Amino acid sequence: MMTNLAAGRAADRIMDMAADTAAEAQEMLAITDLKTHFFTQKGVVPAVDGVSIRIPEKQVMGIVGESGCGKSVTAMSILQLVSRPGRIVGGSIMLDGEELVGKSVKEMRNIRGNKVSVIFQEPMTSLNPVYTVGRQVSEAITVHRQVGKQEARQQVVEMFKAVGIPEAERRFNSFPHQLSGGLRQRVMIAMAMVCQPKLMIADEPTTALDVTIEAQILHLMRRLEEKSNTSIMLITHNMGVVAEICDFVYVMYAGKVMEQAPVFELFDHTKHPYTKGLLNSIPKPTEEKQRLYNIKGMVPNLLRLPKGCRFSPRCEYAMPECREREPELYDCGKNHKVRCFLYQKDQGGGADE
Ligand code: SF4
Repeated sequence: MMTNLAAGRAADRIMDMAADTAAEAQEMLAITDLKTHFFTQKGVVPAVDGVSIRIPEKQVMGIVGESGCGKSVTAMSILQLVSRPGRIVGGSIMLDGEELVGKSVKEMRNIRGNKVSVIFQEPMTSLNPVYTVGRQVSEAITVHRQVGKQEARQQVVEMFKAVGIPEAERRFNSFPHQLSGGLRQRVMIAMAMVCQPKLMIADEPTTALDVTIEAQILHLMRRLEEKSNTSIMLITHNMGVVAEICDFVYVMYAGKVMEQAPVFELFDHTKHPYTKGLLNSIPKPTEEKQRLYNIKGMVPNLLRLPKGCRFSPRCEYAMPECREREPELYDCGKNHKVRCFLYQKDQGGGADE
């Protein structure tokens, strides 16, 4: 993946400049100080704890982190699908200027699939096995648009062609189990894009696929994003996938954003010890025999967060101050912020890169 990044996207460094101006571009999604907590019998779990994320128009934003870091709960909060005992307890989620927090079930039903759509890791859990894929994608159109069956069918076939489903007319009548994993994921992307949403959330969309199909699906998503006005929020634990298609990256850990930067800035000038650990754990294709790097320790139990920096029990740079108080997000470069005391005073300096 990293080789692909260097070879395939070197010419795309212009994207870095685009990301630099991200703050000036029109924001499609603006999440501000979002707090989504789960009220369990054992106590309050702050799964998302004051997260602010911006996604400009026509950009692919990556949210990366280990399981339990809060990235999927952030996505569910946008969709207003946080299940009990969880709920949003603070913050704002503006989609194209419209506040989503506090919307009724009926209002959100009209927004989901229309202005914001989602694809998940395993399409079989999202597709109904007893209906043809064509019918299911058609329904995604007719629920939100005043179009007849025949026109919806035509739009679906066109969309199937756009996402690279061969023999689109024939595949319209296929059942999910008759398609390969890669084709099912293309159907899901077709369903997510067919109403031309403002935002598509892709939650680990390629984790269940083999590497070749993964590359094809990522390429397809990038192409669709470039051709449409849809912004993409890509949720992943895989830094290689981030390198492949993202313009900007947020690294989350234990419910907070730890580092955020344009993708090339993040890879070239990594700051946070946690992000460094994530990058070091990617296998390097140039090294024949290698030990896979592991970030030592475990993700903290959100019911018993450590005092101070949440990463301090696992951090090789931890200082006494880190165990006393929580760091803020400090500016440390072009459109680059990091939640680490190493960059508190000497912004742009700190630990060796
Ligand atoms: Fe490590 Fe301290 Fe930075 Fe946290 S604030 S990441 S413990 S150096």
